[in-house]
Amino acid sequence: MNKSATKYFAVIGNPIEHSQSPFIHNMFAQQTQKNISYEKILAANNGFKDVVSEFFRLGGSGLNVTVPFKLKAYDMCDSNVSVRAKIAGAANTLWMQNGQLHCCNTDGEGLVQDLIRLGHNPKNKKILLLGAGGAARGAAPSLLSAGCSTLHITNRTVERAQKLCKQISQQLPHFANLVSYASLSEQGCKGVLYDTPWDIIINATSSSLQNSKPLDIKFDFSSNALAYDMVYGNQATCFMQDLQKQGIHQVADGLGMLVGQAAISFEIWNGVRPEIQPVLSALRHKISASS
Ligand code: NAP
Repeated sequence: MNKSATKYFAVIGNPIEHSQSPFIHNMFAQQTQKNISYEKILAANNGFKDVVSEFFRLGGSGLNVTVPFKLKAYDMCDSNVSVRAKIAGAANTLWMQNGQLHCCNTDGEGLVQDLIRLGHNPKNKKILLLGAGGAARGAAPSLLSAGCSTLHITNRTVERAQKLCKQISQQLPHFANLVSYASLSEQGCKGVLYDTPWDIIINATSSSLQNSKPLDIKFDFSSNALAYDMVYGNQATCFMQDLQKQGIHQVADGLGMLVGQAAISFEIWNGVRPEIQPVLSALRHKISASS
């Protein structure tokens, strides 16, 4: 460990006890020889802004933000927001620069890196994105920037998918002709612009968290396709199990995305990109051992 002054970081949410972020960031710090302290902060639902202000007033260097505060984090940042945070309307990474609060949304980049790690680079891929909540809004611009050939967004509440599509078309007009939307239904998941089998199907809904039955949709996928669930746990999610039963080539959960988004936050704050794989392996082991 180097002898420089300790830099203070934290993840803030409600609830927060389950968060794996301290484990991840402490491993990153060991790996890169950075002197950091990383805590969990539980904020009351109406106390987020005060806690954030106090954290930075006391000299904190950076905050990760999780449910339910990502929208509030974005709202605190005035004009100092990354394009991805702007389209998402949500931020998961905060830091102070020249006395002003800045934010970014690293979820989408974390997802893209994980897809590449899994051998499914989004470039030229036809992608079906399920969901239009905060996670999907973070993912969409990154998938487009990574060069996917089609991004079809479906959501239970179709108006949210429509709104996301419209935001992308307005703020990233060069991608407008690659994006479409529909309701989260069997017909909607067939795609409106292209009659296509999907190369990558990404579940960005929280349906797997509710440990409910599968989505009851028969998906149309290519022979080498990937089904990716942003939810993670100590066993395959119901979405992953369902797609396996449908015969998809490969399934994955969102643990790699979690570590990937954390690595980008770490780089924003500390100027060095840590290695993901050793941390991902250790975290997978930790989660399996705690079951
Ligand atoms: P959110 O903003 O609350 O959005 C929830 C989304 O799920 C909405 O699209 C919602 O549809 C949909 N949904 C909820 N229950 C459903 C059901 N039973 N059937 C179909 N659709 C359903 O949440 P979020 O922030 O986007 O997070 C979504 C998931 O991604 C969560 O499970 C979260 O844990 C996970 N996530 C993982 C990572 C990671 O690093 N791995 C990062 C971020 C998020 P409506 O709009 O119709 O309500």
